[in-house]
Amino acid sequence: MTASFDEGALVLFSGGQDSTTCLAWALARFGAVETIGFDYRQRHRVELDCRARIAERLRREFPHWAARLGEDHVVDLSVLGTISETALTRDSAIAFSASGLPTTFVPGRNLLFFVFAAATGYRRGLRHLVGGMCETDYSGYPDCRDDTLKSLQATLSLGMDHRFVIHTPLMWRDKKATWELARDLGGDALVELIRAESHSCYLGERGQLHDWGYGCGACPACELRRKGWEAFASA
Ligand code: ZN
Repeated sequence: MTASFDEGALVLFSGGQDSTTCLAWALARFGAVETIGFDYRQRHRVELDCRARIAERLRREFPHWAARLGEDHVVDLSVLGTISETALTRDSAIAFSASGLPTTFVPGRNLLFFVFAAATGYRRGLRHLVGGMCETDYSGYPDCRDDTLKSLQATLSLGMDHRFVIHTPLMWRDKKATWELARDLGGDALVELIRAESHSCYLGERGQLHDWGYGCGACPACELRRKGWEAFASA
Protein backbone atom coordinates (compact mmCIF):
# COMPACT_ATOMS: atom_id res chain seq x y z
CA MET A 1 0.00 0.00 0.00
CA THR A 2 1.34 3.42 -0.85
CA ALA A 3 0.99 6.49 1.33
CA SER A 4 -2.24 8.29 0.58
CA PHE A 5 -1.13 11.65 1.95
CA ASP A 6 1.85 13.82 1.27
CA GLU A 7 1.49 14.98 4.82
CA GLY A 8 3.15 13.68 7.93
CA ALA A 9 1.70 12.15 11.08
CA LEU A 10 2.66 11.93 14.73
CA VAL A 11 1.80 8.61 16.42
CA LEU A 12 1.26 8.27 20.15
CA PHE A 13 3.48 5.24 20.56
CA SER A 14 3.69 3.48 23.92
CA GLY A 15 5.11 0.14 22.82
CA GLY A 16 1.83 -1.71 23.38
CA GLN A 17 -0.06 -3.86 20.88
CA ASP A 18 -2.52 -1.10 19.98
CA SER A 19 -0.07 1.73 19.46
CA THR A 20 2.33 -0.50 17.51
CA THR A 21 -0.54 -1.44 15.18
CA CYS A 22 -1.37 2.27 14.85
CA LEU A 23 2.24 3.02 13.98
CA ALA A 24 2.10 0.48 11.15
CA TRP A 25 -1.25 1.94 10.05
CA ALA A 26 0.31 5.40 9.85
CA LEU A 27 3.39 4.11 8.01
CA ALA A 28 1.08 2.62 5.38
CA ARG A 29 -0.70 5.95 4.87
CA PHE A 30 1.53 8.91 5.50
CA GLY A 31 4.66 10.00 3.74
CA ALA A 32 6.44 10.82 6.99
CA VAL A 33 5.75 9.47 10.45
CA GLU A 34 7.19 10.52 13.79
CA THR A 35 6.48 8.96 17.18
CA ILE A 36 5.91 10.36 20.64
CA GLY A 37 6.04 8.54 23.98
CA PHE A 38 5.42 9.65 27.54
CA ASP A 39 7.33 8.86 30.66
CA TYR A 40 4.89 9.44 33.51
CA ARG A 41 6.70 7.32 36.10
CA GLN A 42 4.71 4.26 35.14
CA ARG A 43 5.05 1.58 37.78
CA HIS A 44 7.01 -0.42 35.23
CA ARG A 45 8.92 0.95 32.27
CA VAL A 46 8.81 -2.17 30.13
CA GLU A 47 6.58 -0.57 27.47
CA LEU A 48 8.98 2.33 27.08
CA ASP A 49 11.88 -0.09 26.75
CA CYS A 50 9.99 -2.01 24.04
CA ARG A 51 9.58 1.10 21.88
CA ALA A 52 13.15 1.29 20.62
CA ARG A 53 13.26 -2.39 19.77
CA ILE A 54 9.95 -2.24 17.88
CA ALA A 55 11.12 0.78 15.86
CA GLU A 56 14.42 -0.95 15.09
CA ARG A 57 12.67 -4.12 13.85
CA LEU A 58 10.14 -2.12 11.81
CA ARG A 59 13.03 -0.35 10.08
CA ARG A 60 14.90 -3.59 9.44
CA GLU A 61 12.01 -5.87 8.42
CA PHE A 62 9.88 -3.34 6.55
CA PRO A 63 12.34 -1.40 4.37
CA HIS A 64 9.54 0.36 2.47
CA TRP A 65 8.43 1.87 5.79
CA ALA A 66 11.93 2.58 7.10
CA ALA A 67 12.39 5.69 4.97
CA ARG A 68 9.13 7.16 6.33
CA LEU A 69 9.80 6.50 10.01
CA GLY A 70 11.39 9.62 11.41
CA GLU A 71 12.18 11.12 14.76
CA ASP A 72 11.01 9.76 18.11
CA HIS A 73 10.06 12.17 20.89
CA VAL A 74 9.93 11.15 24.55
CA VAL A 75 8.23 13.62 26.84
CA ASP A 76 8.78 13.63 30.58
CA LEU A 77 5.33 13.73 32.17
CA SER A 78 6.47 12.64 35.61
CA VAL A 79 4.15 15.28 37.03
CA LEU A 80 1.28 12.91 36.16
CA GLY A 81 2.71 10.30 38.52
CA THR A 82 2.90 12.80 41.35
CA ILE A 83 -0.77 13.79 41.13
CA SER A 84 -2.31 10.42 40.27
CA GLU A 85 -2.99 7.74 42.82
CA THR A 86 -3.51 4.82 40.44
CA ALA A 87 -2.48 1.23 40.02
CA LEU A 88 -0.33 2.16 37.00
CA THR A 89 1.74 4.72 38.87
CA ARG A 90 1.70 3.34 42.41
CA ASP A 91 2.14 -0.09 43.85
CA SER A 92 -1.56 -0.59 44.57
CA ALA A 93 -3.91 -3.36 43.54
CA ILE A 94 -5.73 -3.39 40.21
CA ALA A 95 -9.42 -3.37 41.07
CA PHE A 96 -12.61 -1.49 40.35
CA SER A 97 -13.23 1.68 42.32
CA ALA A 98 -16.61 2.90 43.57
CA SER A 99 -17.04 4.89 40.34
CA GLY A 100 -16.91 1.65 38.34
CA LEU A 101 -13.62 2.57 36.71
CA PRO A 102 -10.61 0.31 37.23
CA THR A 103 -7.81 1.66 39.42
CA THR A 104 -5.60 1.54 36.32
CA PHE A 105 -7.43 4.67 35.12
CA VAL A 106 -5.07 7.66 35.22
CA PRO A 107 -7.38 10.70 35.19
CA GLY A 108 -6.64 13.05 32.32
CA ARG A 109 -3.87 10.91 30.87
CA ASN A 110 -4.99 10.74 27.24
CA LEU A 111 -6.09 14.37 27.33
CA LEU A 112 -2.61 15.42 28.44
CA PHE A 113 -0.98 13.09 25.92
CA PHE A 114 -2.83 14.72 23.05
CA VAL A 115 -2.09 18.25 24.27
CA PHE A 116 1.62 17.46 24.27
CA ALA A 117 1.35 15.58 20.97
CA ALA A 118 -0.40 18.56 19.38
CA ALA A 119 2.22 20.97 20.72
CA THR A 120 4.94 18.72 19.32
CA GLY A 121 3.07 18.30 16.03
CA TYR A 122 2.64 22.06 15.77
CA ARG A 123 6.38 22.54 16.08
CA ARG A 124 7.19 19.67 13.68
CA GLY A 125 4.57 20.55 11.05
CA LEU A 126 2.58 17.35 11.70
CA ARG A 127 -1.15 17.95 11.97
CA HIS A 128 -2.30 14.33 11.86
CA LEU A 129 -2.21 12.81 15.34
CA VAL A 130 -2.73 9.04 15.63
CA GLY A 131 -3.74 7.22 18.83
CA GLY A 132 -4.72 3.65 19.68
CA MET A 133 -7.76 4.54 21.77
CA CYS A 134 -10.64 2.11 21.45
CA GLU A 135 -14.21 2.22 22.62
CA THR A 136 -15.02 -1.36 21.67
CA ASP A 137 -13.46 -3.56 24.34
CA TYR A 138 -11.92 -0.91 26.54
CA SER A 139 -12.10 -0.73 30.31
CA GLY A 140 -14.57 2.14 30.35
CA TYR A 141 -11.89 4.83 30.34
CA PRO A 142 -13.78 8.04 29.51
CA ASP A 143 -10.76 9.52 27.72
CA CYS A 144 -10.79 6.65 25.19
CA ARG A 145 -14.27 7.56 23.97
CA ASP A 146 -14.81 8.68 20.41
CA ASP A 147 -16.76 11.74 21.59
CA THR A 148 -13.94 12.75 23.95
CA LEU A 149 -11.40 12.63 21.14
CA LYS A 150 -13.64 14.41 18.61
CA SER A 151 -14.17 17.17 21.15
CA LEU A 152 -10.43 17.27 21.88
CA GLN A 153 -9.67 17.58 18.16
CA ALA A 154 -11.90 20.67 18.03
CA THR A 155 -10.36 22.10 21.21
CA LEU A 156 -6.77 21.60 20.07
CA SER A 157 -7.48 23.04 16.63
CA LEU A 158 -9.15 26.11 18.14
CA GLY A 159 -6.70 26.53 20.98
CA MET A 160 -3.63 26.44 18.75
CA ASP A 161 -5.38 28.02 15.73
CA HIS A 162 -4.09 25.13 13.66
CA ARG A 163 -6.12 22.36 12.08
CA PHE A 164 -5.36 19.04 13.78
CA VAL A 165 -6.91 15.71 12.82
CA ILE A 166 -7.02 12.98 15.47
CA HIS A 167 -7.04 9.51 13.92
CA THR A 168 -8.09 6.52 16.02
CA PRO A 169 -7.98 3.53 13.65
CA LEU A 170 -8.80 1.08 16.44
CA MET A 171 -11.82 2.92 17.84
CA TRP A 172 -14.38 0.41 16.58
CA ARG A 173 -12.20 -2.72 16.48
CA ASP A 174 -11.93 -5.35 19.17
CA LYS A 175 -8.59 -7.03 19.90
CA LYS A 176 -9.21 -9.77 17.33
CA ALA A 177 -9.83 -7.14 14.66
CA THR A 178 -6.68 -5.31 15.77
CA TRP A 179 -4.61 -8.42 15.02
CA GLU A 180 -6.43 -8.71 11.67
CA LEU A 181 -5.53 -5.11 10.88
CA ALA A 182 -1.87 -5.85 11.65
CA ARG A 183 -1.95 -8.82 9.29
CA ASP A 184 -3.58 -6.72 6.55
CA LEU A 185 -0.92 -4.05 6.97
CA GLY A 186 2.22 -6.14 7.25
CA GLY A 187 1.33 -9.81 6.92
CA ASP A 188 2.48 -12.53 9.29
CA ALA A 189 5.81 -10.75 9.78
CA LEU A 190 4.11 -7.76 11.39
CA VAL A 191 1.84 -9.99 13.48
CA GLU A 192 4.90 -11.82 14.77
CA LEU A 193 6.79 -8.60 15.48
CA ILE A 194 3.84 -7.23 17.49
CA ARG A 195 3.27 -10.55 19.27
CA ALA A 196 6.88 -10.84 20.42
CA GLU A 197 7.91 -7.21 20.97
CA SER A 198 4.88 -5.21 22.05
CA HIS A 199 3.90 -5.06 25.69
CA SER A 200 0.45 -4.88 27.28
CA CYS A 201 0.77 -6.39 30.78
CA TYR A 202 -0.04 -3.99 33.61
CA LEU A 203 2.47 -5.75 35.87
CA GLY A 204 5.40 -5.41 33.46
CA GLU A 205 5.91 -9.17 33.33
CA ARG A 206 8.16 -10.35 30.45
CA GLY A 207 9.41 -13.71 31.66
CA GLN A 208 7.66 -16.08 29.29
CA LEU A 209 6.56 -15.70 25.67
CA HIS A 210 3.03 -17.10 25.41
CA ASP A 211 1.16 -17.63 22.12
CA TRP A 212 -0.33 -14.17 22.60
CA GLY A 213 2.87 -12.46 23.72
CA TYR A 214 4.60 -11.67 27.01
CA GLY A 215 2.72 -10.98 30.22
CA CYS A 216 1.54 -12.27 33.57
CA GLY A 217 -1.55 -13.82 31.95
CA ALA A 218 -3.82 -12.71 34.80
CA CYS A 219 -4.16 -8.92 34.78
CA PRO A 220 -7.01 -7.30 32.77
CA ALA A 221 -4.65 -6.22 29.96
CA CYS A 222 -3.24 -9.75 29.58
CA GLU A 223 -6.70 -11.26 29.68
CA LEU A 224 -7.94 -8.94 26.93
CA ARG A 225 -4.85 -9.59 24.84
CA ARG A 226 -5.03 -13.37 25.27
CA LYS A 227 -8.74 -13.54 24.38
CA GLY A 228 -8.19 -11.38 21.31
CA TRP A 229 -5.28 -13.52 20.17
CA GLU A 230 -7.23 -16.75 20.66
CA ALA A 231 -10.16 -15.40 18.63
CA PHE A 232 -7.75 -14.25 15.91
CA ALA A 233 -5.71 -17.46 15.82
CA SER A 234 -8.76 -19.74 15.72
CA ALA A 235 -10.59 -17.79 12.98
ZN1 ZN B 1 -0.47 -9.03 32.87
